[in-house]
Amino acid sequence: MVSPLDAPGTSSSAGEAPAGPARSPLERLLDLQELDLELDRLAHRRAHLPARAELARLREQVARLDSERASVDKRRSGLANRQAELERSIEEATERIHTIEKRLYHSDTAYAFRDQQAMAEEVKALERRRSELEDQEIEVMEELEPIDKEMAAIEARRSELVATGGGQMEVLGRGEREIDAEVAQQAAQRAPIVADVPEKLESEYERLRTKFGGVGVARLVKGSCSGCHLVLPATELDRIRHAGHEALFHCDQCGRLLVP
Ligand SMILES: [Zn+2]
Repeated sequence: MVSPLDAPGTSSSAGEAPAGPARSPLERLLDLQELDLELDRLAHRRAHLPARAELARLREQVARLDSERASVDKRRSGLANRQAELERSIEEATERIHTIEKRLYHSDTAYAFRDQQAMAEEVKALERRRSELEDQEIEVMEELEPIDKEMAAIEARRSELVATGGGQMEVLGRGEREIDAEVAQQAAQRAPIVADVPEKLESEYERLRTKFGGVGVARLVKGSCSGCHLVLPATELDRIRHAGHEALFHCDQCGRLLVP
């Protein structure tokens, strides 16, 4: 009997943003950027799930095996055609032998000795021919044997790869679903933040984020831009310090929007 010692539920609802009304639109922009960076990280993680690379590798291997299989199959079907041809000829010879023998031994017609001799000769010739054909067929079959083995090995390897691929697909699906759930959770937090940011400021943010590949807004920390880490000139710092809350400043080194 299983009696799991369940730990008490530890679900904390820490999803809510701690931001109060005290946060300025620029600070909300930093919140938005943090969220968007997390979404970027999730997208990157989703695109680079190890199972995805493993699947690509498996697909490549299967494609290689398929072209190998096609060339082996071509060789095999050439030989199989040759074998079928030989079997047809053997059958024809056998039928011809039976027809003559029937005529010779089982008909009411009495053939002249010379004709009987001619028919017996033909039967012998046909038997020789048939024996040659049979030897040729054995040769073809001997050629086919390793090819069949090769083909079986390819098929076995292929099924193995396909089975592994199936497993990796499941792993990938699980990984994607996990990330998608996280994305949905993060994305749901976006709207309330965006609501706190004026439209113009948001579009400026989007423009800068695209331009800088992620970080378009930087906090001003001890006189330097946290985006490019360069110290701002004292006059510029002075200007920022004495400007109103509505004023926007860009780092004059990198161009990112600064949050004083
Ligand atoms: Zn900068």
